[in-house]
Amino acid sequence: MGVIVKGKPVADALLAKVQADAEALRQNGAPLCLAVILVGDDPASKIYVGKKHETCERVGIQSRMYHLAESVSQQELLELIEKLNKDAQVTGILVQLPLPAHIHARQVLRSIDTHKDVDAFSMLLDMSGDDLVPCTAGGILELIHSTGVEIAGKNCVVVGRSNIVGKPMAMLLLHENGTVTICHSGTVDLGDQTRQADILIVAVGKKKLITADMVKDGAFVVDIGMNRDASGKLCGDVDFEAIKEKASYITPVPGGVGPMTIAMLMYNTVEAAKRQFAVRRDI
Ligand code: NDP
Repeated sequence: MGVIVKGKPVADALLAKVQADAEALRQNGAPLCLAVILVGDDPASKIYVGKKHETCERVGIQSRMYHLAESVSQQELLELIEKLNKDAQVTGILVQLPLPAHIHARQVLRSIDTHKDVDAFSMLLDMSGDDLVPCTAGGILELIHSTGVEIAGKNCVVVGRSNIVGKPMAMLLLHENGTVTICHSGTVDLGDQTRQADILIVAVGKKKLITADMVKDGAFVVDIGMNRDASGKLCGDVDFEAIKEKASYITPVPGGVGPMTIAMLMYNTVEAAKRQFAVRRDI
């Protein structure tokens, strides 16, 4: 049976480092504050925002919450972001997705000052050097690194090409010298592609899309999907019970990737504040 790669211990280790760095910033009188903008009343978004606020408190990051009505205009939202961009006390800005249909999400995300963009969605094509990386993809990289498995030279297959998960994941694997294939809803024979994967990353949102016959023996399988089964229990995109017998490593749902996403957000928030503080000190 493969090793079950749990997110919580790796996330806790990262959060402990973040907490120490946050305390060091505080001791130096540096601002450290995450502004979170929520538009509308989507129940899942409210839960995610609540968790972010709780985790900020846990690690010593100040957080401010801006809850705007579903009917807010794009102009009003852009004005709020502009105000936060200019506020020296705010070191990180996050707009919770999805946004209502009348708002141009890409334009809104691009209006965030890149130094304060802790979700790092504006970094999509430039993940080289020491840029902040999008939280879910960055968290998965940390999880893979925690096992000691090398990415360089491996066949990596990413199923899903969203701007939030699939594309940044593929870019990060490429940056680590993996040989990367990206699959999507137009891929003709998905199993044919996934069977080539030494590292298989699945971010689709369809339960049991990936069955055991679609996985190579000894593969490292990362399941990002979050779905509900018939009994309402949280489950991923891969058939965990069958695939864990075949994989060398596999992440469970829940308890795999999920805890890493929020830990990476905290990491990015402290990193962004450290960089802004260093620039101000040097002026
Ligand atoms: P999106 O709906 O934005 O993207 C899904 C992707 O899957 C699309 O690229 C789509 O292809 C592709 N797809 C759909 N059907 C198939 C198929 N049959 N075969 C191959 N590819 C297919 O979702 P997200 O990327 O935002 O999220 C994916 C999943 O990850 C969700 O379950 C979400 O809840 C979860 N998630 C979990 C997080 C965590 O922290 N654990 C964080 C973020 C997301 P196409 O582009 O052609 O339409």
